[in-house]
Amino acid sequence: MERLIQGFDRFRRDMSDEHRQLFAKLASGQTPHTMFITCADSRVMPELLFNANPGELFVYRNVGNIVPPYAQHVSGVVAAIEYAVTALKVQHIVICGHSDCGAMKALQNPALLKGKPSVEQWLKHADVARYVVAENRPTMQGEEGLRYLTEENVVGQLEHMRTLPVVAAAMANGSLRIHGWIYDIARTDITAFDATEGRFRPLVAGSSNLPDATPHARFSVPVASAA
Ligand SMILES: [Zn+2]
Repeated sequence: MERLIQGFDRFRRDMSDEHRQLFAKLASGQTPHTMFITCADSRVMPELLFNANPGELFVYRNVGNIVPPYAQHVSGVVAAIEYAVTALKVQHIVICGHSDCGAMKALQNPALLKGKPSVEQWLKHADVARYVVAENRPTMQGEEGLRYLTEENVVGQLEHMRTLPVVAAAMANGSLRIHGWIYDIARTDITAFDATEGRFRPLVAGSSNLPDATPHARFSVPVASAA
């Protein structure tokens, strides 16, 4: 714990003027552009990965980057999404899985869940991924199977997220886009789900290359002029 206390001391001491001014400005409010939902894994550090400033990312982490479907489970992540969409009005929500995920390994090998009844219950929300893989790639094992499971979990959680009324409404009027990403720890790269192609492909700079994980907005035309 001393390591953390000394780290905080250093953080305050070495802070740049730019960050000092930014924190002062942020003291009275936040307007993050993106909500980032990822795994609790200690190796996944969103602000570090994206060179993000304080106030940019509204981050929520849990075991397996899971979003339970609406009405099935009132959870911290669902409450945080509602807040992000309605109060903070984030423009993007990213669900980001990662390589070597302990939660995905447990889905692959349920014996790892022995003595962890809460984790086992929580991972029921990822059953969709386990089932998709078992039905469609029954022989896929090991690293390849884990990768496929991790991808399917992100796709499944995106679908769950779309069942939240506030998300569906914001997506329908074009004010919110949702994205499914996988961060590979060893390779330090990110792939993004492309719903049009039905696969994950490398994330490259340039917004025109951002894969679309969402259907097109149906109500982007202002209601008044559409009537
Ligand atoms: Zn994980």
